Amino acid sequence: MGKYVVWFKDLKKDSIAIAGGKGSNLGEMTQLSLPVPNGFAVTASTYKEFIEQTGLKNQIEQFLSGLDEEDTDKLQKISDQIQQLIIGTPVPEDMAEEIVNNYELLGMKKRDASNLVQPEEVFVAVRSSATAEDLPSASFAGQQATFLNIKGKEHIVDAVRACWASLFTARAIYYRQKNKFDHSKVYLSAIVQRMVNSEKSGIMFTINPATNNADELVIEAIFGLGEMIVGGEVNPNTYLIDKKTKQVKKIEVKKQDYGLFRNEKGENVKRDIAKSDQEKQNLNDKQIQELFRLGKRLEEHYGRPQDIEWAIENGEVFLVQTRPVTTFKSKTAEERAKVTTEIGKIILKGDTASAGVYSGPVKVVNAISELNKVLKGDILVTVMTTPDMVPAMERAGAIVTNEGGLTCHAAIVAREMGTPCIVGTEHATQVLKDGQIITVHASKGIVYEGKIEIKMPMKAVPADAKINIITATKVKVIMDIPEMAAKAAETGADGVGLVRLEIMIAAGGIHPAEYIRKGKERDYINLLKEGIKKIATAFAHKPVWVRCSDMRTDEYRGLQGGNMEPKETDPMIGWHGIRRLLDEPKILKAEFQAVKELHDEGWKNVGIMIPFVIRTEEVQKAKDIMREVGLEPCKQVDFGIMVETPAACWIIEELCKEGISFVSFGTNDLTQMTLGIDRNNQKLNNRFDEMHPAVLGELAKVIKMCQKYKVTTSICGQAGSRPEMADFLVHQGIDSISANADAVYEIRKVVAQTEKKLFKDGEKKK
Ligand code: PEP
Ligand code: MG
Repeated sequence: MGKYVVWFKDLKKDSIAIAGGKGSNLGEMTQLSLPVPNGFAVTASTYKEFIEQTGLKNQIEQFLSGLDEEDTDKLQKISDQIQQLIIGTPVPEDMAEEIVNNYELLGMKKRDASNLVQPEEVFVAVRSSATAEDLPSASFAGQQATFLNIKGKEHIVDAVRACWASLFTARAIYYRQKNKFDHSKVYLSAIVQRMVNSEKSGIMFTINPATNNADELVIEAIFGLGEMIVGGEVNPNTYLIDKKTKQVKKIEVKKQDYGLFRNEKGENVKRDIAKSDQEKQNLNDKQIQELFRLGKRLEEHYGRPQDIEWAIENGEVFLVQTRPVTTFKSKTAEERAKVTTEIGKIILKGDTASAGVYSGPVKVVNAISELNKVLKGDILVTVMTTPDMVPAMERAGAIVTNEGGLTCHAAIVAREMGTPCIVGTEHATQVLKDGQIITVHASKGIVYEGKIEIKMPMKAVPADAKINIITATKVKVIMDIPEMAAKAAETGADGVGLVRLEIMIAAGGIHPAEYIRKGKERDYINLLKEGIKKIATAFAHKPVWVRCSDMRTDEYRGLQGGNMEPKETDPMIGWHGIRRLLDEPKILKAEFQAVKELHDEGWKNVGIMIPFVIRTEEVQKAKDIMREVGLEPCKQVDFGIMVETPAACWIIEELCKEGISFVSFGTNDLTQMTLGIDRNNQKLNNRFDEMHPAVLGELAKVIKMCQKYKVTTSICGQAGSRPEMADFLVHQGIDSISANADAVYEIRKVVAQTEKKLFKDGEKKK
């Protein structure tokens, strides 16, 4: 045991004051000689000494004194300031040295031929494990950061300090203030644990979480890293075991064609599963029995059902975490009979648009006029959502649509709202009936009949996880709903890369063309100002790029005046975007006017971009209209174009010469237009691929040309949330990437890794 660190073997379940809940549980399991990857806790008192010795304690107290946690902007600002302060403060030398020395010990296991110990730098996870002085058992689970795949002594102390800083995320400060915890008495132990390089991994519940049957144990298993189960991206194989007879009662095999694996550089990469293994049972009998034995042992030891995370490396089973199953309530056989097992009756299947699970009554909406029947907590079932359905979407507990792909309206909005959503079921509106109770397992893209209790695993990454490292490529967020601004700002994004005005417009209930027809431009301007202001305030001092309205004629018929919209054969390539705005310049002028007034009132961080550009003249004309409201494009305000047509890619040099501040790739449309695949057609979902070489070629070409003309490059289509796209774009030298709020953390990690690699390669070449 050192002054600052304690190894797992010296911790037990009552060591919470030293190592927090997570650390002491890992210690307890180690003491039981269970197969836990080795590691140590940088103790809670080390954190305390760090902030006291460096004088941070007083500064933090000053920042927090008198803070009103309901003042979201202030809370976010103070949270950022405190975290920056911690990150920027050097860790005292003796402390840093002890942490590094112990990290090196983790790799001291190999001996060479001469029997000399060969230190080897290993990958570790650095996790936060918080504890409170007066209340050692207080749970702060999931509030602080975790850093995976950390390797190298130069990074280890940074990761520990970043965990310490995460004690002051806006969410953690809010939680403590609300629950009257004294900030100065909450400490954080950073757990440094060797990472298992998982061939297979999964979750084990020592009861059946679907039925609460305590006589059954359930194992869920996939190939590769467990993150894919958590994110719902892959459906696990399920093994149901009778605890009394030890017999496997049921095995459900699900096809897995790819998994997430760690490569030598510590990056998590998607890899195909061998064809012969894709539909094969992924655990052998020996592994099932070994997991079963470990699960029972843990349950007996703790005296309560456990929810366990496990992994297999080189055929060896490891336990990574255990915690009590909190929802467990022993049920009688009769009660159990009422609940269908999760392996229950599947009535529909579709694509995961927004992960999560929800049970409730169905409301089928066949026409906008029926929206009012959707009450809070109902499941909205419709052919396809449109922006004027947003208020009903907000009330819905889950959403199921017949049509749509992952870039369709329902998917975009549901993800932003965090509402479970399945798209592309084809028949939902026919199969489901009003009032029928169903369970939407959106993470798996399945709709079950009846109410099913599904235990969702904890997210591996906390919802507000922030990486406190600075990347050269900015990582921004996409935002359409002003009410979500504070939550989106919590991601630590470097700004907003796309604000879609259509959602604000739909909430106002009136079509923009109708405001103009009625001479009510002022109302339209005020509506936009109010919404944009909320976002610009939450992202004060960071760029917020608003896109002029891009209203397809079929989507807004439900709005007042929407019945005047022309009927088009294919609205996706019809009268929308800048071509329409130039035909109805008063709408465009009102939108520019809103931005101009916001600038005058101090929100100078608001920039503007025009959608669906195909000609230079469109840009010229838009700029002329902007000048009419008294704003000089590119000089007084960031003025950009969406690159979402192949035409824009081909004429990019002319567009740059015309004078623009930035381009933003709208890959939803660009992919649709380049591949000739309707983005809303569920039949084509598996062919809609932004990583198609033709799309990548366009992106690369545009970035290169923009660099020549010093035009900033950016992406705001859904593909910006795909790690492989982020990696590609950083290689091309893009300036910023915008992702959905729930993907900002992951994308920032990918960006950091790619930049690091590029930097190293560059260094090597020198
Ligand atoms: C896009 O096309 O990628 C885009 C961001 O615009 P929208 O999804 O609103 O068409
Ligand atoms: Mg678009």
